[in-house]
Amino acid sequence: MSVIYNKVALIGLGLIASSMFWAMKRGGVAGTVSGYARSEATRDTARRIGLCDTVCDSAEEAVQDADLVVLAVPVGAMGAVAKSIAPHLKPGATVIDVGSVKRTVIADVLPHIPENVHFVGAHPMAGTEHSGPEAGFATLFDNRWCLIVPPEDTPEDPIARQEDYWRALGADIERMDPEHHDIVCAVVSHIPHLIAYTMVGVADDMRRVTDQEVIKFSAAGFRDFTRIAASDPTMWRDVFLTNKDATIEILGRFTEELMALQRAIRTGDGEQLHAYFTHTRAIRRGILEAGQDTDAPDFGRAKVER
Ligand code: NAP
Repeated sequence: MSVIYNKVALIGLGLIASSMFWAMKRGGVAGTVSGYARSEATRDTARRIGLCDTVCDSAEEAVQDADLVVLAVPVGAMGAVAKSIAPHLKPGATVIDVGSVKRTVIADVLPHIPENVHFVGAHPMAGTEHSGPEAGFATLFDNRWCLIVPPEDTPEDPIARQEDYWRALGADIERMDPEHHDIVCAVVSHIPHLIAYTMVGVADDMRRVTDQEVIKFSAAGFRDFTRIAASDPTMWRDVFLTNKDATIEILGRFTEELMALQRAIRTGDGEQLHAYFTHTRAIRRGILEAGQDTDAPDFGRAKVER
């Protein structure tokens, strides 16, 4: 595979950035890669495990001469990071964020981007409950979607190059506008996480009454909730604070459906429950057919490999 960007700078060295690094190395997608993380501890870890060709002590230094700059920090920190690197960006460079929310991030970042630099939003729909520089692996993006969310009036060339880049990292590409992105992600990712957090909280409450039975007898469904609810608290706090409108909208619809099911249970309406669950089972089959998961007993989760 050929080099798509001569120099790539990764700002933030967590799960996503480190996976991008290993995937870039695997595919020969970048000439050199520099990196920066806020804490010295993370920078030291990155140096120890060979994450990035150069680990810099400032974001300003890392972005020098970079053709692609990746903002891979929690969404609430994107604006401040963009502001600090803006004067140091190479003319003609592309800046992307990999945040899970787009409307707020574009509003926070775009005002800082110089005229001769392009900004494109990218959201790889792949992750694990682990975070930090040691959590990444080269295959994270393989056969997963990466949503490309260009702000209005972005020229075609930098967008097309971004799409080539993510394909080279193993992902499939779809373009979306920011509003649509935020609603779709509220449905498929943000609200499911909120439900998992809530359910684990409820179970934790019950544990006090039932003497650890919830944990002792926890079946796969609940164990999966605990896995999701172990996701990074800073990242998810920022997701809900910055995707407020879409979250509230989808949460409202969710509550209505839940009330309808509650009513069906209370009134003994088995027909309604059966019809509902038949419909949702068909949706699962659709996901399998689309190749987005497998029917394996491990729920299709790939083994972690670098
Ligand atoms: P992560 O593993 O927690 O890493 C976050 C990185 O950002 C760390 O290097 C951290 O530095 C740095 N950072 C944190 N707060 C900062 C601040 N205020 N200023 C500057 N740097 C800061 O996170 P991640 O999972 O890679 O997520 C990165 C981005 O990708 C987030 O925007 C997230 O929404 C998005 N995303 C995540 C997933 C997922 O499943 N995890 C999937 C798709 C997209 P230190 O280590 O020095 O603290």
